[in-house]
Amino acid sequence: MASQPIDVHIREVGPRDGLQNEPPIATDQKIELINALSRTGHQRVEAVSFVHPKAIPQMADADEVWSKVDRNPDVLYSALIPNLRGLQRAIDAGFKEVNVVLSASDTHNRANLNRPTEDSVAELDALVELAHANDVFIELVIATSFGCPFEGDTDPKRVAGIVERAEAAGIDRIAFGDTTGMGTPKRVKDLLEAVDTNLPRLMHFHNTRGTALANIMVALDYGVDQFDASVGGLGGCPYAPGASGNVATEEVVHMLHDMGYNTGIDLDKLLEVAEMAEEMVGHELPSGVYKAGPRTRLVERS
Ligand code: ZN
Repeated sequence: MASQPIDVHIREVGPRDGLQNEPPIATDQKIELINALSRTGHQRVEAVSFVHPKAIPQMADADEVWSKVDRNPDVLYSALIPNLRGLQRAIDAGFKEVNVVLSASDTHNRANLNRPTEDSVAELDALVELAHANDVFIELVIATSFGCPFEGDTDPKRVAGIVERAEAAGIDRIAFGDTTGMGTPKRVKDLLEAVDTNLPRLMHFHNTRGTALANIMVALDYGVDQFDASVGGLGGCPYAPGASGNVATEEVVHMLHDMGYNTGIDLDKLLEVAEMAEEMVGHELPSGVYKAGPRTRLVERS
């Protein structure tokens, strides 16, 4: 008997993580991108972030974008938040799922959030309390889980300690962020061996150094079935000019479907959105499946 396909859940982060690392595009285009992604079979889309506009000017129009999106009832939309103020904005905007971010690396946390990691961890209890009081699902994203551009490799034990605190605080899911693409299959294995948790796990890989799909393969072996990806590979890396950003959604979908996994995403529709995203940002996107087409697409011999 043939084995049944297993569901793998992909969250599209192009409109948030992708666009955050691209030159700013118009508000209308952001709305158009989210609407198009919402029609590809995607079940999860990270739509915006509620961060200080001075820190990330690309997300200054988050409220307007979200208020004008044509919300698909079959899609769960989420917002990224850095702190309690961001959470309150997400709640006021009507989000039912948020991802709160902190960095395992103290230097990165200070650079990004202007405070040490410990201060962010100490806020988790209050964040969970406010989120749950409003029926909001709250995920913790641990950025620089595998390495930090300022501090080098991240000790998996440090990440494990943060996960323990997050679980005690009542966080609903843990995401491991490879913020600057320093993860490798070995480091993914080391991390997943070190972290002992009953919480659902999600992996957020960047393809900065070409290891993202290999990292996903390792995570699948450890039973992880939730991944972030960005249409066309939209985005970049603030510490590596010219580097590619999040792993491209088409590349992940293309590989998983061939392996018998089910994502619910229509690859052809997704490729059309990649084309749209490429036009919006005005430069070539790195996704190999977008450039070459799926392996099933035949060419005529000339
Ligand atoms: Zn990212």
